[in-house]
Amino acid sequence: MGERAPPTASELAGGRAALSAALIYKPYWWEAAPRRSEPVTLPAEADVVIVGSGFTGLSAALTLLRRGRSVVVLERGVPGFGASTRNGGQIGSGNQKFRVKRLVALRGRSKAEALLREGVRMLDYIAELVSTEKIDCHFTRCGRLRAAVRPEHYEAMARDMDDLREIAGVESFMVPRAEQRNEIGSDVFFGGSVLPGDASLHPGLYHAGLMQRIEDAGGRIAGNAPAEAISARRPGFSVKTPLGEIKCRDVLIATNGYTDGIVPELGRRIVPIGSGLIATGEIPEAMFSGLLPKNRVYGNTNRVFYYFRVAPGERRLIWGGRVGRRADSASPGAFRHLARDMLHVFPGITDVPVTHAWDGLIGYTYDEVPHLGRTAAGVHYAIGYCGTGVSRATYFGHKIALQIVGSSEGRTAFDDLAFPSFPAHPIAKRAVPVVETWYRLRDVTNL
Ligand SMILES: Cc1cc2nc3c(=O)[nH]c(=O)nc-3n(C[C@H](O)[C@H](O)[C@H](O)COP(=O)(O)OP(=O)(O)OC[C@H]3O[C@@H](n4cnc5c(N)ncnc54)[C@H](O)[C@@H]3O)c2cc1C
Repeated sequence: MGERAPPTASELAGGRAALSAALIYKPYWWEAAPRRSEPVTLPAEADVVIVGSGFTGLSAALTLLRRGRSVVVLERGVPGFGASTRNGGQIGSGNQKFRVKRLVALRGRSKAEALLREGVRMLDYIAELVSTEKIDCHFTRCGRLRAAVRPEHYEAMARDMDDLREIAGVESFMVPRAEQRNEIGSDVFFGGSVLPGDASLHPGLYHAGLMQRIEDAGGRIAGNAPAEAISARRPGFSVKTPLGEIKCRDVLIATNGYTDGIVPELGRRIVPIGSGLIATGEIPEAMFSGLLPKNRVYGNTNRVFYYFRVAPGERRLIWGGRVGRRADSASPGAFRHLARDMLHVFPGITDVPVTHAWDGLIGYTYDEVPHLGRTAAGVHYAIGYCGTGVSRATYFGHKIALQIVGSSEGRTAFDDLAFPSFPAHPIAKRAVPVVETWYRLRDVTNL
C-alpha cells in the first residue's frame, strides 16, 4: 500500500498507522451531508433565539415555527457542528441507562414508570417526526442487540428485560449464547438481549433534513454566530453575538456537551465527555456476510462500552466508544483502542481499511438524567442526554418548544426532577480521564 493509503484496521489497532496515513478526521456522515454555512443576516428581533444547532435546537425550532413563532438558531461553528452530526445514529429510548430496579429504588415506582414510558414515547416521536416531515435519512426500526461481555451480565439483563416489560410494557427477547451466531458473527459474547423497537438513521441526513424543513418554514440558522452573552430586558432578553444583538421574548439553551459559561448555572451542571467513532472502507462481500446478519444496532454491557452498526446501504462498519481527548483530535493514536475492540469482536477483518475517524462531546449530568426547564432568570434549556440523545434531544427540543409557547402538551415526567450541579465541577471536568480509566479497570476486573 502507498504512503497515502488509509491504515488497515490492524495497523490502527497495533499503533502502526502513520500520522501521514490517509485517515479522514471528520465524520463519515458528512460525506453524504456536507456541513454548509451560508452568511446569514441576523434580524434585530425574533420571538425565540435558540443557542445550539443540534437535534435539540432544530427540533425546538421546527415546533416553534409550526406554532407560528419567529426563530433564529445561533451556532458557534458550522450548523450541526456538535454531537448531532457525529453520533452513531443508534436510536433508543434511554431506558437502558439504569436497571429498572435501580430506577425504582432511586425515584419510586410511579415516577420510574412515568420516566420509562416517556422513554418509549421519545422513540415513537422521532419515528413520527421523520415520517410526517418526510425526512429521507434511512430511519429504520432495526432493533438493538446488547451483547453480554460476561455470563452474569446475560442473567442480569434477562431479569431487567422482564422488569421493563412488566413496568413499561416494552417487548424484548433474549438470545442465548448457543444461538448468538444468528445475530452476530462473533463468539466473544455470552448471548444478549434484543429490543426490536430500537432504530437507526443516518445522522447527517437527518440533521440536513431538519435544517431544510426549518429554512422552508422561514427559520434562520446562523453558523459562525456564537451567543456571547444573554441579558435580561423587559420584556424578554437580548442576545449578543459578533454579528449583532438580537432582542427576543425567549431564549433556549440547546448546547448539551458543548455548554459553555454563558449561563453559568447550566455550565456547572454538565460535564463534557469525549466519544469517538471510526468507519471502515467497503468490506468485501465474502468477509462481510455473516458479521451482522440482522443489520441491527449493537452495543455491549460494559460500563465503558463500545457500539457499532453498518452504514446504511453499504458494507462499512461504524464503530464507536469513548475517547479520551477533546473534540477534533487528529491523530491515529486517539482511535487505536476502537480498532482494537473491533478486531477483538471481528478478528477476520484485519486488512480492511479504516477511512474515517472523528469524535465529539456528549453532555453528562450528575444524576445521569437529561433535564429541561427554565432557569431562575427565565432562560429555557434542554440538555444532558448522557450519550443517548438522538431520540431524547429530538423529543426534549419538541417539548421545551411547547413549554415556551405555553402549551400544556409540553408537560413531561422530567419537569419536576431537581437538576443537581456537579460537586466541585472544575475538578469533575478535569477528572474525566481518571474516572474512565477506573471504569475500564472495573470492566476488565469485574470489580
Ligand atoms: C461520537 C458520539 C456518538 C454518539 N452516538 C450516539 C448514538 O449512537 N445514539 C444516541 O442516541 N446518541 C449518541 N450520541 C449523543 C447524541 O449525539 C447527543 O446527545 C445529541 O446529538 C445532542 O444534541 P444537542 O442538539 O443537544 O447537542 P449538540 O448536537 O452537541 O449541539 C450543541 C451545539 O451547541 C453549539 N454551541 C455551544 N455553545 C454555543 C454558543 N455559545 N453559541 C452558539 N452555539 C453554541 C455547539 O457548537 C454545538 O453545535 C453520541 C454523541 C457523540 C459525540
